[in-house]
Amino acid sequence: MNRLEIEQPVVYRTLKNCLEQNRLSHALLFAGPKGTPKMETALLVAQSLFCEDAHPFGCGQCSVCKRTQRREYADLIFLDGTSKSIKKEEILLLQEQFSKTAVEKSGKKVYIINAAENATTEALNSLLKFLEEPMSQDVTAILIVETVDRLLPTIVSRCQILPFRPVERKSCAEKAIALGCPKTDAWLISHFIKDPEAVTRFSESDIYQKAYAAFELFVEQMDDLSESLVDLQCELAGSKSDAKETLKCFIDLLTTFFEELSCTSDDMPLQIKIKADKIRRKSLNLAQIQILLLETKDKLNRPYNLMLITDQLLIKLMEVIE
Ligand SMILES: [Zn+2]
Repeated sequence: MNRLEIEQPVVYRTLKNCLEQNRLSHALLFAGPKGTPKMETALLVAQSLFCEDAHPFGCGQCSVCKRTQRREYADLIFLDGTSKSIKKEEILLLQEQFSKTAVEKSGKKVYIINAAENATTEALNSLLKFLEEPMSQDVTAILIVETVDRLLPTIVSRCQILPFRPVERKSCAEKAIALGCPKTDAWLISHFIKDPEAVTRFSESDIYQKAYAAFELFVEQMDDLSESLVDLQCELAGSKSDAKETLKCFIDLLTTFFEELSCTSDDMPLQIKIKADKIRRKSLNLAQIQILLLETKDKLNRPYNLMLITDQLLIKLMEVIE
């Protein structure tokens, strides 16, 4: 709760007021980039509704709060669209269960729908329709999304929106360094992950290590990329299982690096600074490189052949750079 108050003061104050005055909307929409504490806040709202000792937030100590935190509370339903889309049938099935009396003492029920942008429109529509019926007064739905634009306006307009602002990059990097993350890694990763703990964890992952090796090779060999093309291909496509994530991370690292060539942040680590100074001497078409990286990242969200994407990216980069 402390973290919420400091990092997301607007969200904190809005929730506090609504809970105190008992006028929390039955459909909440939490929107904000990765790394912002949307799920934590959704669980806090659920605790605040269930806990007997809430004022106005759940106490966090009682068994109700603890079970909610572990997502074991019977009247809390958690749907996750991260790995597969949420279908209308699932929502209807849950509504049937929910329309019976609450299992737990509080009499209140909460739906948390993570990655709601991946729920079908029919699924969200039937959920919101259900919430508007008088019989579902004690039901609250919390939809979690990264950006509101991916939901239909008809869905958005029926929810109370709570925007989570991105954590500032620099403060995220500093916190990650304090957690033991190496400085260069913290600086690089905090450009695309805005959660200090996640930054630190990611810096230790195989995906990052491989992507960083490829990034380093790329930058070192930029004078003659054709020499290292095969090495780069091997580095990026080495292990089949996480090749896609590795390529994604490689693109994020390059995007960060080329962005910073034109506007250097004051906390750029020496190791990166040396690389950047060397590259600045070449007159590169940075805009063209950024577009290429963006296009490739977009392709990764669609069913393309991964090897082909990797090869095309490297070859096109070579053409732009040389
Ligand atoms: Zn409690």
